[in-house]
Amino acid sequence: MTKGVCGNVKIAEQMIEGGAEIIGDSRVDNLKKLSDSLDVDLMLLRTPMCSNISDVVRYADISLNSEFEVMKKLSKEAVKQDKVHRAIIMVDVGDRREGIMPQDFIPLLRKVKDLENLEVIGIGTNVGCYGGVQPTFENTEILVKLAEKANKELNFSLTTLSGGSTITLKLMEEDKLPQRINQLRIGEGILLGTSISQDRDIPYLHRNVFEIEAEIIEVKEKPSVPEGEIGQDAFGKKPEFKDRGIRRRAIAAIGKQDTDTSNLTPKDDGVEILGASSDHMILDVEDMERDIKIGDTLSFLPTYSGMLKAFTSEYVDKMYI
Ligand SMILES: *Cc1c(COP(=O)(O)O)cnc(C)c1O
Repeated sequence: MTKGVCGNVKIAEQMIEGGAEIIGDSRVDNLKKLSDSLDVDLMLLRTPMCSNISDVVRYADISLNSEFEVMKKLSKEAVKQDKVHRAIIMVDVGDRREGIMPQDFIPLLRKVKDLENLEVIGIGTNVGCYGGVQPTFENTEILVKLAEKANKELNFSLTTLSGGSTITLKLMEEDKLPQRINQLRIGEGILLGTSISQDRDIPYLHRNVFEIEAEIIEVKEKPSVPEGEIGQDAFGKKPEFKDRGIRRRAIAAIGKQDTDTSNLTPKDDGVEILGASSDHMILDVEDMERDIKIGDTLSFLPTYSGMLKAFTSEYVDKMYI
């Protein structure tokens, strides 16, 4: 899934080289970019908006769906474009983000299975995103049971059982993923090697694929506590400070416009991020071994939100090594 990197084509190509068969993204704009360069199937990860159904059919081969009205529109548009659009129906197994309730699946499938030029290929679920619900054998097995029910009651066979996202890798590792689940939609794991909602590094994956580099524009010895009456900072928060005496500090030319500065990890020992405004990141470099100078760069490892924001910011140059 490329939504964490704004549908970046070079990164999608690496995923395909690594064996990914479908590239997914939550934005149609990103799929449009990807469809110009790639010839794998593209999946829209969010239920389509009525306002851009024609682009969904044009640029996505598959979409995740939970609304009858939307699927009807997809069918109509697919007929118009003389294409077949594939749909996966999302079921809410407990997280309370997207998806129909399990008991509504068969009635919905009955209504959509014969829509023209809309091929219902599967059933899917998503957990861990809103309610923080963890995947289990039992809540994932709901998909398998519903697929079996579709077979028995409607004589309808679903080929794709889309069992979850990065958070669900854990079940697979522990051999607790129901056998019939044959698709996972992996974003954070493949990009960063982490599963932040489980507070987990995925041990068999690299965690240094992305680095954010920033140039140092000021280095000075300064008192660690501001002087004067303290109001609110530029983002409406009242800051607090610990008095550590005079410290060597540096300012990096990066800020909240570029990335999520609260979640960056400095690569160098002895660097501590004190805070940031839109365009300045303030660092304590007192404990650094090397003597940092104006014009030097420092590197940081981002979390998912830092990576996402850096890819969204047009102020951040992207370099591929
Ligand atoms: C974002 C998203 C994914 C990927 O999630 P990760 O936690 O990044 O692996 C999968 N499915 C859906 C529906 C999503 O919105």
